[in-house]
Amino acid sequence: MPELPEAETVRRGLAETVLNSEIQSIEVFDSRCLKKHAGGEHDFAAIMRGKKFLAAVRRGKFIWLPIDVEGFAMVMHLGMSGQALVRTQDYEHEKQVRLQMNLDNGLQLRFSDQRLFGSLMIDQLEPTEGSAAGFSPETKTATEIPLSVSHIARDPLDPEFNLAKVRKKLKNRTAGIKHALLDQQLVSGIGNIYADESLWRARVHFNQPADSLSTKKLNELFAHVTEVLAEAVAQGGTTFDQQYKNINGQSGYFAQNLNAYGQTGKPCNRCGRLIQRQSWQNRGSHFCPSCQRIRKQKLK
Ligand SMILES: [Zn+2]
Repeated sequence: MPELPEAETVRRGLAETVLNSEIQSIEVFDSRCLKKHAGGEHDFAAIMRGKKFLAAVRRGKFIWLPIDVEGFAMVMHLGMSGQALVRTQDYEHEKQVRLQMNLDNGLQLRFSDQRLFGSLMIDQLEPTEGSAAGFSPETKTATEIPLSVSHIARDPLDPEFNLAKVRKKLKNRTAGIKHALLDQQLVSGIGNIYADESLWRARVHFNQPADSLSTKKLNELFAHVTEVLAEAVAQGGTTFDQQYKNINGQSGYFAQNLNAYGQTGKPCNRCGRLIQRQSWQNRGSHFCPSCQRIRKQKLK
């Protein structure tokens, strides 16, 4: 699954290439990529033709591009294997491209999706609290959020992210901390990889009850979350299966910095004990059995 760093890599690439250029034509090769757009393929193309993208905004792993029709944006769900590619118009056709848009700057925005869990749709925007609806440092005026994304909480890289508010909610949760970190309505953008990495850095076990972490420990954990996400963004995300790529089709390389995720059986980079994997919520949790023990008392 693409997580925040992979989505940010795509968002930034789009912000650098497709903004303020007119969409001259749209070719749909497989209308299943528009399954979430209520009006269907022809409605989508009719609305988008002649329009411009004004910004590329992200909250967690959700990306949207407001268009120059007041109150509307194109929402891009990457799903399991969705990719946004920006190519020159004479670039060879790529097999898994489901839809492409020709822009008047000579570039083509291609939506590629092998497994078709991703989608594009035009959605209505609504106002949000704060000076920005999500992460879009190039365009500070994007203050509205699509209805389909509005239930998603702000992520730790969002300028309006409020740690005190999140901490307060965590102190009422008895479930394991990893469960809370993955709750996109509490804090978005942290998936399995980055949760395991942040917990390893903070020396916290994934099943440590959220309400047993002190303010100090939660601050420390979130400092690691922010740091891990920022490092992964700087490296273009983590790629294991060639599914996640930047808009030029290149993979990220954060995988070489992993300390816990996918490191089962390798020595912990801090203490040398072997990293373990435990089944957890239909996936795995990777942790060091020595550095990350469940503590009965409050974690200071
Ligand atoms: Zn260790």
